[in-house]
Amino acid sequence: MQNSIGQAIAAHHAGRLQEAETLYRSILSREPSHPIALNNLGMIALVSGHLGDAVDLVGKALAVAPADPELAGSARAIGLTLFTQGFRIDAAPWLEKAAAQNPADQDVANALGRSRLPAHVAAEHPDPDGGTPWLRYPPYESPNYTYSIDIVGTCNLRCPTCPVANMRDEPRAKGLMSVDMFRDIIDKIRRESPVPSPDVWLFNWGEPMLHPELPKIVGLVKERGMTVSLSTNLNIRRGLEEAVKSAPDSIKVSMSGLSHTGTYAQTHAGGDIRLVKSNLYLLRYLLDRHRVSTRVWVGFHLYKTNLEEAAATRALCAELGFDYHENPAVFHPVEKVIDLVEGRATAEDLAIVDRLLTHPVQIREQVGIKRHGHYDCELRFNMTTINHDGTVALCCATYSAPTQLGVNFLDESHGQIEARKYSHDFCKTCYRYGLAYSAAKLPPRPA
Ligand code: SF4
Ligand code: SF4
Repeated sequence: MQNSIGQAIAAHHAGRLQEAETLYRSILSREPSHPIALNNLGMIALVSGHLGDAVDLVGKALAVAPADPELAGSARAIGLTLFTQGFRIDAAPWLEKAAAQNPADQDVANALGRSRLPAHVAAEHPDPDGGTPWLRYPPYESPNYTYSIDIVGTCNLRCPTCPVANMRDEPRAKGLMSVDMFRDIIDKIRRESPVPSPDVWLFNWGEPMLHPELPKIVGLVKERGMTVSLSTNLNIRRGLEEAVKSAPDSIKVSMSGLSHTGTYAQTHAGGDIRLVKSNLYLLRYLLDRHRVSTRVWVGFHLYKTNLEEAAATRALCAELGFDYHENPAVFHPVEKVIDLVEGRATAEDLAIVDRLLTHPVQIREQVGIKRHGHYDCELRFNMTTINHDGTVALCCATYSAPTQLGVNFLDESHGQIEARKYSHDFCKTCYRYGLAYSAAKLPPRPA
């Protein structure tokens, strides 16, 4: 007796996926273009994580029966799954289809907005060595062009995942950027930025709250109509009220624990979580008192040793009206990951790496599986990183002297600085180790 599509759908709806798959395949062996069998097999592939198969099967189904109501919703499911898993280039055509079906679907609209190449990003960039042009993609970090300006060239803490601690012997200038230099930099940014209103981050490897003239600097950015963000460990109370009154667009508070006896003292070495907690309450009080609507969010770094403190931190954020985001802690900078891969890590490095949820080498492998194609690195095409002394770094993920561009931001045009980035040898090393911030792409399918 031949299997019917009804039997297959019944098994599918009952969650008997293996049985449903067998039945759909049997139908397709007799009728290779059966749209429902193709579509539903594609949906099974999607939930099983076989994204390439899902795309192929549902694509064939829609080619056969584009208006079949049974297939409505498949484009949305595929588009959102690909988007969530970072495959933005592959997600875009599916999200376009889903948006055409239902323009009011806000989840689809948001995902589609982040899956299109922003207007300021050219689709390709020539390789200065004459090789294949670099392909661009919708950036993951921010759709807007970003300037990361380290107004403070040092930090009050010594987190072992950060070069401030794990590359402390690096001969790197420490100090504060003067307000005059900052004004010149921000004016040059206004003149030559690829977008009229870029995002400005007042941090990279430094603690911006240490700058005594932080409010003035925030004001200079806001006067020029740009968004300004801070990231702080919040182990500083001095200047907090004035910083709040300057009303930056966002303040990120980086945390890795909530208890005095827990992991925080090691992972935010030199910090005191009791001061952070009291400052979080003070921050809420000051925002309300001065009627400031700055978005505050806590970025919680997950380690093997602090997972049980994450929920309590989330609850504290809910109480204070702050956003909460958690992410596995990451070992920085790129140079140190290369040291790790090449067996040059110190005992101190290995101790902190042992606390990470996933070993950096494993992360590299996991990310590597998702990367296909000659894609550019968004840290160079959508971002410029400026050190406290006005010099320019290759990118925000590097720290050491050989990874600097050897130029002052005020002395060269945007185009000249870009050219230096694209001819810098360290990017080749970074790509070779699979550490560049490039795009996730489904692997090419056999013809
Ligand atoms: S608080 Fe931030 S900048 Fe300071 S040492 Fe820790 S990670 Fe580095
Ligand atoms: S390829 Fe590596 S070194 Fe070059 S910009 Fe990207 S992250 Fe930085």
